[in-house]
Amino acid sequence: MAIPVSNSNGSHQREVNDLATLRAAHRGEGLALNQRHMNRQLGRVLQTLGFDREWVRGEGPYLIDSGGERYLDLYAGYGVFGLGRNHPFVKAQLHELIDSDPPSLPQLGVSTLAGLLAQRLVELAPDSIDAAVLTSSGTESVEGALKLARAATGRTRILYCRRGFHGLTYGSLSVNGNEECRERFGPFLPGCDPIPFGDLDALAAELRRGDVAAFIVEPVQGKGVYPAPEGYLRGAQELCREAGALLVLDEVQTGLGRTGRFLALEHWGVAPDMITLSKALSGGYVPVGALLASRAVFNATFDSMERSVVHGSTFGGNDFAAGAGLASLMAIENERLVDRARELGDLLMELTRPLQERFEIVHAVRGLGLMWGIELGPPSGRAGRRVWETFERRQPGLAAQMVTVPLFREHHILTQVAGHHMNVIKALPPLTIPEEEIRRFAAALETVIADVESGLLRGYASLGLNLGRRLLFAR
Ligand code: PMP
Repeated sequence: MAIPVSNSNGSHQREVNDLATLRAAHRGEGLALNQRHMNRQLGRVLQTLGFDREWVRGEGPYLIDSGGERYLDLYAGYGVFGLGRNHPFVKAQLHELIDSDPPSLPQLGVSTLAGLLAQRLVELAPDSIDAAVLTSSGTESVEGALKLARAATGRTRILYCRRGFHGLTYGSLSVNGNEECRERFGPFLPGCDPIPFGDLDALAAELRRGDVAAFIVEPVQGKGVYPAPEGYLRGAQELCREAGALLVLDEVQTGLGRTGRFLALEHWGVAPDMITLSKALSGGYVPVGALLASRAVFNATFDSMERSVVHGSTFGGNDFAAGAGLASLMAIENERLVDRARELGDLLMELTRPLQERFEIVHAVRGLGLMWGIELGPPSGRAGRRVWETFERRQPGLAAQMVTVPLFREHHILTQVAGHHMNVIKALPPLTIPEEEIRRFAAALETVIADVESGLLRGYASLGLNLGRRLLFAR
């Protein structure tokens, strides 16, 4: 098939039929194409913030733009790039796999690679886990957890946490604790009720009704970067067991070494009934996820030959996804990346926690391993507080943007704001990040925060309002 190549005003030029030529012919057109055929509002956000680079390559922890500039990517594709981009070992394994013409997706048949991935994941999970459903995304893993929980308990109610995030399809959205994600999409799955994160009394009160199928929770909430308080997950496990409800830990973001343990649940010795995984399991190459479950929960859904395909999806467990998953697990093990995440996470915390004492606007620094966040808040003085409140009224979360924008533009470091209207800046460094880049990030952050704080009573107000105006205007 030949694809016509047109120039930017749409007039026809020539036809090409290979990807390399097609890409070369359209260099620099990514944003224009997005604005023509895809998410225009996203394009406007990128332009407003000045994040509209043309990315031409990815290498380890770096994104490289068309001018050859390297940007340290601490956004890491929402955590997909735990191994960094285009990891040489995973790449070589996938080359080999593609060249071997594997018998992927026989459907009425099984795949050895899928079985091996399931086996390895079960081995790496707590003893409570015995089976896996392979999926193609985080939200698909969560959807499976909700279905299996209902089937296993014969109950319908699902508890979830405020601020919790589990994906954007209907089941996951029904247990999403962020109103801005749900707005205009209701009604949702009946029987899904929010409780405050970290509050065992609230959980116990809901469980007491005796109708709860499952409680789903992230070990570290991605929105705002809130690690579970000490004792919370163990307490939740006990309460759920007593009430006959299942505990589902969503490790889509925290899993695969991110927090300094292979699974974050290991920090507290929790043994849930189900675990959801995805993101970094892909090696950054092939979408893949997994729902891990106890045998009892699994068997309650798949309990007869008739019901053998009652849950699943066409692409789940395909050979390329399973191969990417297995190769990623090998790389994590061979390069001791779980230990690395713990050591570098400790270093990042050691370097950044003092910012809390050094700056009035730094209200908290928190995280676990290489899942890290810094929360900004108003300065203590009355005048500074008034300026802060003025621009926060105009654009909540603007202070965080005041940090992420110069980090990107001046220091070439890509970070994210950790949630809608939140003044939390978040970093998910690849576990392969060089130590000196952690140090560079901490130093750059300090410089930027010092600028923001010292400018608060001078140019900052107008700078903030300008950015706020641009953001408001861009709606
Ligand atoms: N659960 C958690 C904890 C997540 O962080 C995410 C994605 N950010 C999801 C589920 C949904 O994953 P996906 O985008 O692959 O559907």
